[in-house]
Amino acid sequence: MVSRSPAKGGARAPDEPVNPEPSHASRGRQVIDRDPARKAERGRDRDSAADDAEPESERGPELPRFGRDGAPEPEQYTVEFEEGRIDPDAAKVVKRLTRAGYEAYLVGGAVRDLLIGRSPKDFDVATSARPDDVRRLFRNSRIIGRRFRLVHVLFGGGKVIETATFRRPPEQDSQRENEDLLIRNDNVFGDAHQDAYRRDFTINGLFYDLDHNLVLDWVGGMADIERRAVHTIGTPVVRFQEDPVRILRAIKFAAQLDLGVTPEVYDAMVQCRGALRKAARPRLFEEVLRLLRSGASRRAFWLAWETGVLDVLLPELSTYLADLPEDDNSVWRILQEVDRTTLERKSPLDDTVLWAMLLLEPMREACAGEKDRVEAAYAFLEPIVDRLNVPRRIADAVRRIVALMPRVEAGRTGRFARTQLYPALRDVVELRAAALGEREPIEGDELSAAGTSAAGEKPARKRRRRRKPRIEAG
Ligand code: ATP
Ligand code: MG
Repeated sequence: MVSRSPAKGGARAPDEPVNPEPSHASRGRQVIDRDPARKAERGRDRDSAADDAEPESERGPELPRFGRDGAPEPEQYTVEFEEGRIDPDAAKVVKRLTRAGYEAYLVGGAVRDLLIGRSPKDFDVATSARPDDVRRLFRNSRIIGRRFRLVHVLFGGGKVIETATFRRPPEQDSQRENEDLLIRNDNVFGDAHQDAYRRDFTINGLFYDLDHNLVLDWVGGMADIERRAVHTIGTPVVRFQEDPVRILRAIKFAAQLDLGVTPEVYDAMVQCRGALRKAARPRLFEEVLRLLRSGASRRAFWLAWETGVLDVLLPELSTYLADLPEDDNSVWRILQEVDRTTLERKSPLDDTVLWAMLLLEPMREACAGEKDRVEAAYAFLEPIVDRLNVPRRIADAVRRIVALMPRVEAGRTGRFARTQLYPALRDVVELRAAALGEREPIEGDELSAAGTSAAGEKPARKRRRRRKPRIEAG
């Protein structure tokens, strides 16, 4: 077995999940002006350039002036994104807010993805305007959330631009320090810089000022985007203890965006993984599902395994992996096939299929030789359902799929072909066969019978790539 030494960031095993080489090429990377003289000077230049181009009344608002009242000043980078990369409705929201005299920025995942060269999934806005003010400015909006109120501005096609008032980081009760950092209250309004500090990772803490094409960086996010590293804002151990789900988010960003994890963050993931037991179970379920849907599940679960996070979340899977002979990489090949199919279809597989694929090999082992396979699958799944709050609907379907697989694999599909479960069952059988290269024709399978399924062809053998350990410098 490949040895795993979670305490050491450098000890990576084959299939290590983090690709150190930038793969984002230059799509959408625009002019980034990093002149340290920055800010006001450049702002003035830009404004005078704008003077030539547009009439006075259409000029953007004044450059924000940071650093007043002792507030920290952000690094500022001029970045112009190509036409069309920024959602026009998100831009509309920001501009209407700034015209009304508020501060408003694109924030979070969208800014990160634009800078990395990916298409953002959604665009979030942060503003100095209070929820009621935002609500008043946009007829097509509604306030949501009880604990922390934010505004959904609604556009055609079901598009939602989430618009949140700046929040400050939660104050830690100094007496409780080190004992219990878990955040229970994080709903106090604040300033832009405070809203940046409360975020999880530096790459997620960048603000984009659309009026001046400026990235505002209070947290060192631009440097981490450049070196392609996931690093927490502030001390990793503290940030993971405050909210252990951030450990899973670190895994997701590293895997999905093909980034490295800094050694400090890696060690903190190892150190704090036990805190995941305290996290809200529905959040754990959601985050694990996101890893599965990410198109990079193999890398994500590898990193989870390597850091020992998997021992906490899914010990059933991690002990199965630990007991496998070194040359058995079936679980990784299955996840690789899940990723390949996800990327090919450009949309995630069904949730039931994803959970079944993840747990397939240990479950098959647990059921092997059992008379009552449904019962054996039940006994295997029950602790997982408890630990991760897996919805019954999914757990029941996974159990039946695993119990019925042998029949379908033997070509005895029979009456199952007409049941609701069948499409998922067929997907699982086909994905596994494609992954492990032992596909059998499936009776009653219209998809592959019609020759439209890629799984109908003999899959190309996939090999695990062995890579040198590599973690970005911290
Ligand atoms: P994705 O593309 O997967 O949606 P995202 O970065 O947009 O990634 P979201 O879950 O949509 O992630 O969160 C939006 C932003 O909110 C993040 O970019 C981050 O700044 C902040 N955030 C989310 N979760 C946390 C958390 N647990 N702790 C601190 N900040 C968080
Ligand atoms: Mg998001």
